[in-house]
Amino acid sequence: MTDKVIIITGGSRGIGRATALAAAGRGYRVVIGYASNKAAADEVVAAIEAKNGKAIAVKCDVAEESDVLSLFAAADEFGTLGALVNNGGIVGKSGVRVDEMSAERIQRVMAVNVTGSILCAREAVKRMSTKHGGKGGVIINISSAAARLGSANTYVDYAASKGAIDSFTVGLGHEVAGEGIRVAAIRPGLIDTEIHAAGGEPDRAHRLAPMVPMKRVGTAEEIANAILWLMSDEASYVTGAILDVSGGR
Ligand code: NAP
Repeated sequence: MTDKVIIITGGSRGIGRATALAAAGRGYRVVIGYASNKAAADEVVAAIEAKNGKAIAVKCDVAEESDVLSLFAAADEFGTLGALVNNGGIVGKSGVRVDEMSAERIQRVMAVNVTGSILCAREAVKRMSTKHGGKGGVIINISSAAARLGSANTYVDYAASKGAIDSFTVGLGHEVAGEGIRVAAIRPGLIDTEIHAAGGEPDRAHRLAPMVPMKRVGTAEEIANAILWLMSDEASYVTGAILDVSGGR
């Protein structure tokens, strides 16, 4: 158990929501970042408080530096930061080839998925690194199996953004390994959340499930469990590592 603060970007729905509930169960004081869905974020706070946990919701589009600074300032008021989960992420419309992609779409995917994660990690390192007087901590980046598979004819820009997250995880992990901070990433496979509907194909995960060696989609809770393990002392020698949680694909 811990009473440290955890920041979860995109904590209002899907994998972030499941992670928020699981982290509260381990005693974390949970800061839930959300992009626009305040009602969903408030519902997660209420669910945590109903079990005597502590949580707050803060609006934060991670692509906006000023929002990231506000998110971390709110967390500072809440307690000592011990963990960051870089989870907030987006896909563009599914089924768009690279030769059809607008610059605006590519830039937005990169700004949210890559720049946003790096900005949040920067603020976390400033607070957690022993080099800056901090007490250490853990940063978990949410990548995707798409980083390995490439997502041809689906959303190659998204896959490339997650490839960047993998490289970032290795590099940052090495950079702060001597400063009390562990950094790891998870590559979820096909997980049953609303992100597929956001890409225009609500049924995508279930349609592709037969291609997964385990022949099923994964749940947000299965990703949350892996995140919580990576954050725990049981993973004390894990850093710069990327874990596939994808049913074998
Ligand atoms: P989801 O159900 O669509 O939820 C997305 C979450 O991200 C929401 O909380 C949303 O906030 C937030 N968000 C959206 N844009 C944001 C922004 N600009 N800044 C900050 N937060 C933002 O998605 P999910 O499936 O749980 O995905 C979570 C992470 O897992 C993403 O990084 C995704 O790429 C990754 N992933 C998912 C799958 C999968 O199959 N589901 C597979 C591999 C990787 P609002 O509620 O305010 O909109």
